[in-house]
Amino acid sequence: MKDFESIYPPKKNYYRLPWSKNDNPIGWLEVTDICDMHCKGCYRQRLTGHKTLDEIKEEIRFFKRWRNCDNISIAGGEPLIYPEIEKVVEFTAENGMKPVVLTNALTLSREKLRELKKAGLAGLTIHIDCLQDRPKWKGKNEAELNELRQYYAEMVSEEKDVYCSFNSTIYYSNFRHIPEVLRWAIENIDIVNGIIFITYRGVPISDKIDYVVGDKTIRVQDKLSYTTDKLSEIDIMSTDIYTIIKNELEEYEPSGYLGGTGSHDAYKWFIAALLASKNEVYGSVGKKTMELTQTFHHLLWGTYVAYPNLSKTSKAVFLTAFFDKSIRKAFGKFLRSALHNPLHVFRRVYLQSVAIIQAPDVLPDGQADMCDSCPDMTVYEGHLVNSCRLDEYRKLGGFVNVAFQEGKNSPRAELEAGSHPTSDEK
Ligand code: SF4
Repeated sequence: MKDFESIYPPKKNYYRLPWSKNDNPIGWLEVTDICDMHCKGCYRQRLTGHKTLDEIKEEIRFFKRWRNCDNISIAGGEPLIYPEIEKVVEFTAENGMKPVVLTNALTLSREKLRELKKAGLAGLTIHIDCLQDRPKWKGKNEAELNELRQYYAEMVSEEKDVYCSFNSTIYYSNFRHIPEVLRWAIENIDIVNGIIFITYRGVPISDKIDYVVGDKTIRVQDKLSYTTDKLSEIDIMSTDIYTIIKNELEEYEPSGYLGGTGSHDAYKWFIAALLASKNEVYGSVGKKTMELTQTFHHLLWGTYVAYPNLSKTSKAVFLTAFFDKSIRKAFGKFLRSALHNPLHVFRRVYLQSVAIIQAPDVLPDGQADMCDSCPDMTVYEGHLVNSCRLDEYRKLGGFVNVAFQEGKNSPRAELEAGSHPTSDEK
Protein backbone atom coordinates (compact mmCIF):
# COMPACT_ATOMS: atom_id res chain seq x y z
CA MET A 1 0.00 0.00 0.00
CA LYS A 2 1.04 3.59 -0.60
CA ASP A 3 1.55 6.10 2.22
CA PHE A 4 -1.36 7.99 3.80
CA GLU A 5 -0.97 11.05 1.56
CA SER A 6 -1.40 9.11 -1.65
CA ILE A 7 -4.45 7.26 -0.35
CA TYR A 8 -6.07 10.49 0.84
CA PRO A 9 -4.50 13.15 -1.38
CA PRO A 10 -4.94 16.67 0.00
CA LYS A 11 -7.80 18.58 -1.58
CA LYS A 12 -5.61 21.55 -2.40
CA ASN A 13 -4.05 19.38 -5.13
CA TYR A 14 -7.31 19.44 -7.06
CA TYR A 15 -9.85 21.91 -8.38
CA ARG A 16 -13.19 21.80 -6.59
CA LEU A 17 -15.62 21.83 -9.51
CA PRO A 18 -17.74 25.00 -9.33
CA TRP A 19 -21.02 23.16 -9.96
CA SER A 20 -24.08 23.84 -7.81
CA LYS A 21 -27.76 22.95 -7.65
CA ASN A 22 -28.79 25.83 -9.94
CA ASP A 23 -25.74 25.95 -12.19
CA ASN A 24 -24.77 22.42 -12.99
CA PRO A 25 -23.63 21.00 -16.33
CA ILE A 26 -25.77 17.87 -15.90
CA GLY A 27 -29.51 17.26 -15.61
CA TRP A 28 -30.65 13.67 -15.01
CA LEU A 29 -33.76 12.81 -17.01
CA GLU A 30 -35.48 9.46 -16.51
CA VAL A 31 -37.81 8.66 -19.40
CA THR A 32 -38.94 5.30 -18.04
CA ASP A 33 -38.38 3.05 -15.03
CA ILE A 34 -38.63 -0.12 -17.14
CA CYS A 35 -35.43 -1.95 -18.01
CA ASP A 36 -34.59 -4.94 -20.20
CA MET A 37 -31.77 -6.10 -17.93
CA HIS A 38 -31.01 -6.47 -14.25
CA CYS A 39 -27.87 -4.93 -12.72
CA LYS A 40 -26.96 -5.68 -9.12
CA GLY A 41 -26.07 -2.03 -8.49
CA CYS A 42 -29.33 -0.57 -9.88
CA TYR A 43 -31.26 1.98 -7.78
CA ARG A 44 -34.49 1.82 -9.74
CA GLN A 45 -37.53 -0.43 -9.55
CA ARG A 46 -40.42 -0.60 -11.95
CA LEU A 47 -43.33 1.40 -10.54
CA THR A 48 -44.78 3.74 -13.14
CA GLY A 49 -43.47 2.67 -16.58
CA HIS A 50 -42.85 5.08 -19.44
CA LYS A 51 -43.45 8.80 -18.85
CA THR A 52 -45.48 10.64 -21.48
CA LEU A 53 -43.61 12.80 -23.98
CA ASP A 54 -45.33 15.87 -22.52
CA GLU A 55 -44.08 15.03 -19.01
CA ILE A 56 -40.57 14.57 -20.36
CA LYS A 57 -40.65 17.88 -22.25
CA GLU A 58 -41.77 19.60 -19.06
CA GLU A 59 -38.75 18.16 -17.21
CA ILE A 60 -36.37 19.27 -19.98
CA ARG A 61 -37.81 22.80 -19.74
CA PHE A 62 -37.37 22.59 -15.94
CA PHE A 63 -33.67 21.75 -16.29
CA LYS A 64 -33.16 24.58 -18.74
CA ARG A 65 -34.90 27.10 -16.49
CA TRP A 66 -33.64 26.06 -13.05
CA ARG A 67 -30.41 24.15 -13.57
CA ASN A 68 -28.60 25.81 -16.51
CA CYS A 69 -27.44 22.47 -17.92
CA ASP A 70 -24.91 21.90 -20.66
CA ASN A 71 -26.09 18.33 -21.16
CA ILE A 72 -29.05 16.17 -20.28
CA SER A 73 -28.24 12.62 -19.21
CA ILE A 74 -31.16 10.65 -20.65
CA ALA A 75 -31.47 7.65 -18.37
CA GLY A 76 -34.00 5.23 -16.89
CA GLY A 77 -34.68 2.35 -16.61
CA GLU A 78 -33.37 1.71 -20.09
CA PRO A 79 -33.93 4.79 -22.29
CA LEU A 80 -33.46 2.98 -25.60
CA ILE A 81 -36.69 1.00 -25.05
CA TYR A 82 -38.63 4.25 -24.71
CA PRO A 83 -40.74 4.34 -27.90
CA GLU A 84 -40.15 8.04 -28.64
CA ILE A 85 -36.52 8.30 -27.61
CA GLU A 86 -35.55 10.15 -30.83
CA LYS A 87 -38.11 12.85 -30.00
CA VAL A 88 -36.63 13.21 -26.50
CA VAL A 89 -33.15 13.60 -27.99
CA GLU A 90 -34.44 16.10 -30.55
CA PHE A 91 -36.31 18.22 -27.99
CA THR A 92 -33.23 18.32 -25.72
CA ALA A 93 -31.03 19.50 -28.61
CA GLU A 94 -33.64 22.07 -29.71
CA ASN A 95 -33.44 23.50 -26.21
CA GLY A 96 -29.70 24.04 -26.55
CA MET A 97 -28.53 21.16 -24.33
CA LYS A 98 -26.42 18.17 -25.38
CA PRO A 99 -28.42 14.93 -25.26
CA VAL A 100 -26.34 12.10 -23.79
CA VAL A 101 -28.02 8.69 -23.56
CA LEU A 102 -27.05 6.40 -20.65
CA THR A 103 -27.74 2.86 -21.77
CA ASN A 104 -26.92 -0.81 -21.27
CA ALA A 105 -26.84 -0.91 -25.12
CA LEU A 106 -28.74 -4.21 -25.32
CA THR A 107 -30.99 -2.81 -28.05
CA LEU A 108 -28.38 -0.53 -29.61
CA SER A 109 -27.92 -1.09 -33.33
CA ARG A 110 -26.30 0.86 -36.15
CA GLU A 111 -29.75 1.92 -37.41
CA LYS A 112 -30.82 3.12 -33.95
CA LEU A 113 -27.59 5.02 -33.56
CA ARG A 114 -28.03 6.70 -36.95
CA GLU A 115 -31.55 7.81 -36.02
CA LEU A 116 -30.38 9.15 -32.66
CA LYS A 117 -27.51 11.01 -34.33
CA LYS A 118 -29.94 12.51 -36.84
CA ALA A 119 -32.07 13.69 -33.89
CA GLY A 120 -29.05 15.45 -32.33
CA LEU A 121 -27.39 12.86 -30.07
CA ALA A 122 -24.18 14.23 -28.52
CA GLY A 123 -22.97 11.14 -26.70
CA LEU A 124 -23.54 7.71 -25.23
CA THR A 125 -22.46 6.37 -21.87
CA ILE A 126 -22.67 2.58 -21.98
CA HIS A 127 -23.02 0.66 -18.73
CA ILE A 128 -21.29 -2.72 -18.81
CA ASP A 129 -20.20 -4.72 -15.80
CA CYS A 130 -19.91 -8.32 -14.66
CA LEU A 131 -22.94 -8.30 -12.33
CA GLN A 132 -25.55 -7.71 -15.02
CA ASP A 133 -27.75 -10.54 -16.28
CA ARG A 134 -26.71 -9.72 -19.86
CA PRO A 135 -27.68 -12.51 -22.27
CA LYS A 136 -24.65 -14.42 -23.60
CA TRP A 137 -22.23 -12.55 -21.30
CA LYS A 138 -23.38 -13.73 -17.88
CA GLY A 139 -20.49 -15.11 -15.85
CA LYS A 140 -17.82 -13.23 -17.83
CA ASN A 141 -15.37 -11.27 -15.74
CA GLU A 142 -14.74 -7.56 -16.16
CA ALA A 143 -11.63 -8.08 -18.30
CA GLU A 144 -13.47 -10.50 -20.62
CA LEU A 145 -16.18 -7.87 -21.07
CA ASN A 146 -13.63 -5.63 -22.84
CA GLU A 147 -14.55 -7.55 -25.99
CA LEU A 148 -18.13 -6.30 -25.67
CA ARG A 149 -16.93 -2.76 -24.94
CA GLN A 150 -14.80 -2.97 -28.09
CA TYR A 151 -17.82 -3.98 -30.17
CA TYR A 152 -19.85 -0.97 -29.02
CA ALA A 153 -16.94 1.49 -29.14
CA GLU A 154 -16.34 0.60 -32.80
CA MET A 155 -20.04 0.86 -33.58
CA VAL A 156 -20.29 4.33 -32.01
CA SER A 157 -17.10 5.48 -33.76
CA GLU A 158 -18.78 4.95 -37.14
CA GLU A 159 -20.97 7.95 -36.34
CA LYS A 160 -18.71 10.98 -36.35
CA ASP A 161 -18.66 13.29 -33.32
CA VAL A 162 -20.63 11.10 -30.91
CA TYR A 163 -18.97 11.16 -27.46
CA CYS A 164 -18.48 7.57 -26.28
CA SER A 165 -17.83 6.60 -22.70
CA PHE A 166 -18.28 3.47 -20.59
CA ASN A 167 -19.19 3.05 -16.94
CA SER A 168 -19.00 0.08 -14.59
CA THR A 169 -20.16 -0.44 -11.05
CA ILE A 170 -17.22 -1.56 -8.92
CA TYR A 171 -17.67 -4.47 -6.49
CA TYR A 172 -15.07 -6.55 -4.74
CA SER A 173 -15.69 -9.13 -7.47
CA ASN A 174 -14.39 -6.88 -10.27
CA PHE A 175 -12.01 -4.66 -8.26
CA ARG A 176 -8.87 -6.46 -9.46
CA HIS A 177 -9.81 -6.05 -13.11
CA ILE A 178 -9.87 -2.25 -13.01
CA PRO A 179 -6.35 -2.02 -14.53
CA GLU A 180 -7.34 -4.22 -17.49
CA VAL A 181 -10.43 -2.12 -18.18
CA LEU A 182 -8.35 1.06 -17.96
CA ARG A 183 -5.66 -0.36 -20.24
CA TRP A 184 -8.30 -1.34 -22.76
CA ALA A 185 -9.75 2.20 -22.69
CA ILE A 186 -6.32 3.76 -23.24
CA GLU A 187 -5.52 1.43 -26.14
CA ASN A 188 -8.73 2.69 -27.70
CA ILE A 189 -8.29 6.34 -26.81
CA ASP A 190 -9.07 7.35 -30.40
CA ILE A 191 -12.64 6.05 -30.04
CA VAL A 192 -13.25 5.96 -26.25
CA ASN A 193 -13.64 9.40 -24.70
CA GLY A 194 -14.16 8.39 -21.10
CA ILE A 195 -14.30 5.63 -18.52
CA ILE A 196 -16.21 5.85 -15.23
CA PHE A 197 -15.92 3.61 -12.17
CA ILE A 198 -18.82 3.81 -9.70
CA THR A 199 -18.46 2.26 -6.25
CA TYR A 200 -21.29 -0.11 -5.37
CA ARG A 201 -23.62 1.09 -2.63
CA GLY A 202 -26.81 -0.26 -1.09
CA VAL A 203 -28.80 0.51 2.04
CA PRO A 204 -27.18 -1.57 4.82
CA ILE A 205 -29.50 -3.94 6.70
CA SER A 206 -28.67 -5.00 10.24
CA ASP A 207 -30.59 -5.56 13.48
CA LYS A 208 -28.58 -2.69 14.95
CA ILE A 209 -29.71 -0.14 12.36
CA ASP A 210 -33.22 1.33 12.20
CA TYR A 211 -34.57 3.41 9.35
CA VAL A 212 -37.11 6.18 9.70
CA VAL A 213 -39.10 8.37 7.36
CA GLY A 214 -40.62 11.28 9.29
CA ASP A 215 -41.41 9.68 12.67
CA LYS A 216 -42.14 6.21 11.28
CA THR A 217 -39.72 3.30 11.53
CA ILE A 218 -39.76 1.22 8.38
CA ARG A 219 -38.40 -2.06 7.08
CA VAL A 220 -36.45 -0.81 4.06
CA GLN A 221 -35.88 -4.31 2.72
CA ASP A 222 -39.65 -4.52 2.00
CA LYS A 223 -39.61 -1.23 0.11
CA LEU A 224 -36.30 -0.60 -1.64
CA SER A 225 -34.54 -2.75 -4.21
CA TYR A 226 -31.02 -1.69 -3.19
CA THR A 227 -30.60 -3.08 0.31
CA THR A 228 -27.76 -5.34 1.42
CA ASP A 229 -27.00 -7.31 4.57
CA LYS A 230 -23.39 -7.83 3.53
CA LEU A 231 -21.97 -4.66 5.05
CA SER A 232 -18.45 -5.26 3.82
CA GLU A 233 -19.80 -5.12 0.22
CA ILE A 234 -20.43 -1.42 0.36
CA ASP A 235 -17.25 0.11 1.66
CA ILE A 236 -15.12 0.51 -1.47
CA MET A 237 -13.95 4.12 -1.50
CA SER A 238 -12.96 6.30 -4.45
CA THR A 239 -9.47 6.48 -2.93
CA ASP A 240 -9.19 2.67 -3.18
CA ILE A 241 -9.84 2.90 -6.91
CA TYR A 242 -7.52 5.91 -7.17
CA THR A 243 -4.74 3.84 -5.55
CA ILE A 244 -5.27 0.92 -7.90
CA ILE A 245 -5.13 3.17 -10.97
CA LYS A 246 -2.15 5.11 -9.64
CA ASN A 247 -0.24 1.88 -8.98
CA GLU A 248 -0.96 0.85 -12.55
CA LEU A 249 -0.36 4.17 -14.28
CA GLU A 250 2.00 6.68 -12.73
CA GLU A 251 0.92 9.40 -15.20
CA TYR A 252 -2.67 9.27 -13.87
CA GLU A 253 -3.69 12.10 -11.56
CA PRO A 254 -7.16 13.64 -11.13
CA SER A 255 -7.62 17.38 -11.60
CA GLY A 256 -11.14 18.03 -10.28
CA TYR A 257 -13.41 16.74 -7.54
CA LEU A 258 -16.68 17.08 -5.68
CA GLY A 259 -16.62 16.37 -1.95
CA GLY A 260 -19.33 15.00 0.31
CA THR A 261 -22.27 16.86 1.83
CA GLY A 262 -21.34 15.72 5.34
CA SER A 263 -17.73 14.54 5.28
CA HIS A 264 -14.69 16.75 4.66
CA ASP A 265 -12.38 14.09 3.27
CA ALA A 266 -14.47 12.23 0.66
CA TYR A 267 -13.80 12.48 -3.05
CA LYS A 268 -17.30 11.73 -4.26
CA TRP A 269 -16.52 12.68 -7.85
CA PHE A 270 -12.84 12.39 -8.69
CA ILE A 271 -12.14 13.36 -12.28
CA ALA A 272 -8.96 13.00 -14.32
CA ALA A 273 -8.19 13.65 -17.99
CA LEU A 274 -5.35 11.62 -19.48
CA LEU A 275 -3.21 13.05 -22.28
CA ALA A 276 -2.04 10.24 -24.52
CA SER A 277 -1.46 8.97 -28.00
CA LYS A 278 -2.56 5.47 -28.94
CA ASN A 279 0.93 4.26 -28.07
CA GLU A 280 1.93 6.24 -25.01
CA VAL A 281 0.41 8.03 -22.02
CA TYR A 282 2.14 11.40 -21.53
CA GLY A 283 0.41 12.59 -18.37
CA SER A 284 -2.76 14.13 -16.97
CA VAL A 285 -4.40 17.51 -17.17
CA GLY A 286 -3.74 19.54 -14.02
CA LYS A 287 -6.11 21.52 -11.81
CA LYS A 288 -5.39 24.84 -13.53
CA THR A 289 -6.41 23.55 -16.96
CA MET A 290 -9.54 22.09 -15.39
CA GLU A 291 -10.31 25.47 -13.82
CA LEU A 292 -9.64 27.28 -17.08
CA THR A 293 -11.88 24.88 -19.01
CA GLN A 294 -14.80 25.34 -16.59
CA THR A 295 -14.37 29.12 -16.39
CA PHE A 296 -14.00 29.70 -20.11
CA HIS A 297 -16.90 27.42 -20.97
CA HIS A 298 -19.04 29.40 -18.56
CA LEU A 299 -17.82 32.74 -19.91
CA LEU A 300 -18.27 31.79 -23.55
CA TRP A 301 -21.32 29.52 -23.49
CA GLY A 302 -22.92 30.35 -20.14
CA THR A 303 -22.71 26.84 -18.66
CA TYR A 304 -20.17 24.61 -16.94
CA VAL A 305 -19.19 21.46 -18.79
CA ALA A 306 -19.07 17.73 -18.06
CA TYR A 307 -18.86 16.36 -21.60
CA PRO A 308 -16.38 18.58 -23.46
CA ASN A 309 -16.10 18.23 -27.22
CA LEU A 310 -12.91 16.18 -27.39
CA SER A 311 -12.98 15.45 -31.11
CA LYS A 312 -10.86 18.49 -31.90
CA THR A 313 -8.33 17.81 -29.16
CA SER A 314 -4.78 18.07 -30.41
CA LYS A 315 -1.37 19.06 -29.23
CA ALA A 316 -2.83 22.55 -28.67
CA VAL A 317 -3.58 21.43 -25.12
CA PHE A 318 0.20 21.56 -24.49
CA LEU A 319 -0.08 25.37 -24.72
CA THR A 320 -1.40 25.36 -21.16
CA ALA A 321 2.04 24.04 -20.09
CA PHE A 322 2.90 27.70 -19.36
CA PHE A 323 0.81 27.68 -16.20
CA ASP A 324 -0.09 24.02 -15.61
CA LYS A 325 2.79 21.96 -14.24
CA SER A 326 1.03 18.63 -14.92
CA ILE A 327 0.76 19.52 -18.60
CA ARG A 328 4.37 20.72 -18.51
CA LYS A 329 5.39 17.29 -17.29
CA ALA A 330 3.29 15.60 -20.00
CA PHE A 331 4.80 17.87 -22.66
CA GLY A 332 8.30 16.97 -21.41
CA LYS A 333 7.51 13.29 -21.87
CA PHE A 334 6.12 13.96 -25.34
CA LEU A 335 9.33 15.82 -26.30
CA ARG A 336 11.57 13.07 -24.91
CA SER A 337 9.62 10.56 -26.95
CA ALA A 338 10.07 12.72 -30.06
CA LEU A 339 13.82 13.05 -29.40
CA HIS A 340 14.02 9.30 -29.16
CA ASN A 341 12.16 8.91 -32.46
CA PRO A 342 11.37 12.11 -34.43
CA LEU A 343 8.41 10.41 -36.10
CA HIS A 344 6.64 10.46 -32.72
CA VAL A 345 6.13 14.18 -33.13
CA PHE A 346 3.39 13.34 -35.66
CA ARG A 347 1.51 11.15 -33.22
CA ARG A 348 -1.99 12.41 -32.54
CA VAL A 349 -2.62 13.37 -28.91
CA TYR A 350 -5.99 12.66 -27.30
CA LEU A 351 -7.73 13.49 -24.04
CA GLN A 352 -9.63 10.79 -22.18
CA SER A 353 -11.54 11.35 -18.95
CA VAL A 354 -11.21 8.83 -16.12
CA ALA A 355 -13.82 9.42 -13.43
CA ILE A 356 -14.49 7.74 -10.11
CA ILE A 357 -17.83 8.20 -8.37
CA GLN A 358 -18.37 7.19 -4.77
CA ALA A 359 -22.10 6.88 -4.19
CA PRO A 360 -23.78 7.68 -0.81
CA ASP A 361 -22.23 6.65 2.50
CA VAL A 362 -23.58 6.57 6.05
CA LEU A 363 -21.61 8.80 8.43
CA PRO A 364 -21.00 7.94 12.12
CA ASP A 365 -23.86 10.22 13.21
CA GLY A 366 -26.26 8.45 10.86
CA GLN A 367 -26.50 11.14 8.21
CA ALA A 368 -26.09 10.27 4.55
CA ASP A 369 -22.98 11.62 2.86
CA MET A 370 -24.15 12.56 -0.63
CA CYS A 371 -22.15 14.05 -3.51
CA ASP A 372 -21.79 17.76 -2.84
CA SER A 373 -23.60 19.65 -5.65
CA CYS A 374 -24.90 16.30 -6.94
CA PRO A 375 -24.64 16.37 -10.74
CA ASP A 376 -27.22 13.61 -11.17
CA MET A 377 -30.25 15.37 -9.73
CA THR A 378 -33.55 14.54 -11.34
CA VAL A 379 -36.99 16.13 -11.26
CA TYR A 380 -39.60 14.65 -8.95
CA GLU A 381 -42.95 16.39 -8.42
CA GLY A 382 -41.48 19.76 -9.34
CA HIS A 383 -38.35 19.44 -7.19
CA LEU A 384 -34.77 18.38 -7.74
CA VAL A 385 -33.84 15.17 -5.92
CA ASN A 386 -30.70 12.95 -6.00
CA SER A 387 -31.49 10.31 -8.61
CA CYS A 388 -29.78 7.59 -6.53
CA ARG A 389 -32.45 8.11 -3.86
CA LEU A 390 -35.48 8.76 -6.06
CA ASP A 391 -37.19 5.52 -5.08
CA GLU A 392 -37.20 6.64 -1.44
CA TYR A 393 -39.38 9.55 -2.54
CA ARG A 394 -41.49 7.44 -4.88
CA LYS A 395 -42.17 4.64 -2.38
CA LEU A 396 -41.85 6.34 0.99
CA GLY A 397 -42.43 10.03 0.40
CA GLY A 398 -38.94 11.22 1.33
CA PHE A 399 -35.38 10.41 2.28
CA VAL A 400 -34.89 7.42 4.55
CA ASN A 401 -32.83 8.39 7.61
CA VAL A 402 -30.75 6.20 9.88
CA ALA A 403 -31.90 6.17 13.51
CA PHE A 404 -29.53 5.70 16.45
CA GLN A 405 -30.34 2.86 18.77
CA GLU A 406 -29.54 3.40 22.45
CA GLY A 407 -26.76 1.12 23.63
CA LYS A 408 -25.99 -0.21 20.18
CA ASN A 409 -23.14 0.48 17.85
CA SER A 410 -23.37 3.53 15.64
CA PRO A 411 -24.37 2.62 12.09
CA ARG A 412 -20.91 3.44 10.83
CA ALA A 413 -19.26 1.29 13.50
CA GLU A 414 -21.59 -1.45 12.37
CA LEU A 415 -20.51 -0.88 8.79
CA GLU A 416 -16.90 -0.79 9.78
CA ALA A 417 -17.29 -4.12 11.53
CA GLY A 418 -17.32 -5.57 8.01
CA SER A 419 -13.78 -6.18 6.84
CA HIS A 420 -12.43 -3.66 4.37
CA PRO A 421 -9.82 -5.51 2.35
CA THR A 422 -6.86 -3.47 1.22
CA SER A 423 -6.29 -3.13 -2.49
CA ASP A 424 -3.39 -5.57 -2.14
CA GLU A 425 -5.79 -8.29 -1.00
CA LYS A 426 -8.34 -7.75 -3.77
S1 SF4 B 1 -25.59 11.88 -4.81
FE1 SF4 B 1 -26.00 12.36 -6.97
S2 SF4 B 1 -24.09 12.08 -8.06
FE2 SF4 B 1 -23.88 11.08 -6.06
S3 SF4 B 1 -24.44 8.96 -6.47
FE3 SF4 B 1 -26.30 10.02 -5.82
S4 SF4 B 1 -27.28 10.70 -7.72
FE4 SF4 B 1 -25.16 10.17 -8.24
